[in-house]
Amino acid sequence: MAEGLGHLWAGWRSAYLTAPPGEGCVLCRLVAPGVDDREGHVVWRGRRAAAVLNAYPYTSGHLMVLPTRHVGELEDLEPDEAAELWLGVRQAVVALKTAYHPGGINLGANLGRAALPRWDGDTNFMTAVADVRVLPEPLDDTWAKLRAAWPA
Ligand SMILES: [Zn+2]
Repeated sequence: MAEGLGHLWAGWRSAYLTAPPGEGCVLCRLVAPGVDDREGHVVWRGRRAAAVLNAYPYTSGHLMVLPTRHVGELEDLEPDEAAELWLGVRQAVVALKTAYHPGGINLGANLGRAALPRWDGDTNFMTAVADVRVLPEPLDDTWAKLRAAWPA
C-alpha cells in the first residue's frame, strides 16, 4: 500500500518525518518557496502553513494542511504556527463546502507515523467502512476547484 493511503485527512506531517528536513522530506519539498503551486498541488500558502492535495486521495478534495517548517510534534509548534495551521483548516473546510457540497467532512490529524492510532500498511479506511474504493477526480481538477473556492 502506498504511504499516502494511510491518511484520511492529514492535518499533520509526522508520517514523513523519518526523512530529514529539506531535500529528503516530501512535505518540505512540496511547500518549499519557489515550487510551482500547480505542479506541487499547493492549494494555499500562508506565512507559516500551507495546504496541499494528498497525492493518494481517499476521495476528491482530500488535502493536508501543514506547517511550512519541518516540525514533528504538535506541541513543538510555535503559537503563531498553530494559529495559522488552524486557520488553514478552517479555510479548507470553507473551500471544500463551496467546491463539493459534501454531506460532511472528515477532519483528522496524523501525529507520528502510526496515528489515529493506526499502522503503516493497515486497512484502508474507505475499504474498511464501505467496502468500496472511490475513484477520485484528477488532482489537477481538484487543485483548480479548491484554489477557486479558497476564501480570501
Ligand atoms: Zn519536512
